[in-house]
Amino acid sequence: MIAELKPCSFCQSEDIQAFDIGRTFVLYCRDCCSSGPEAGTLDEAIERWNRREKK
Ligand SMILES: [Zn+2]
Repeated sequence: MIAELKPCSFCQSEDIQAFDIGRTFVLYCRDCCSSGPEAGTLDEAIERWNRREKK
């Protein structure tokens, strides 16, 4: 089951796209062009995205 994806922590956009780059997944905000942490699975990438904090 895929975890629920939270809005972008920078701009609150929900326009988030997932990329599969080789064996790595990364989530990317199409509004502010920020990208989340890379992970080995889509689930993990989403989990890391959701835990991402503002800088
Ligand atoms: Zn954003």
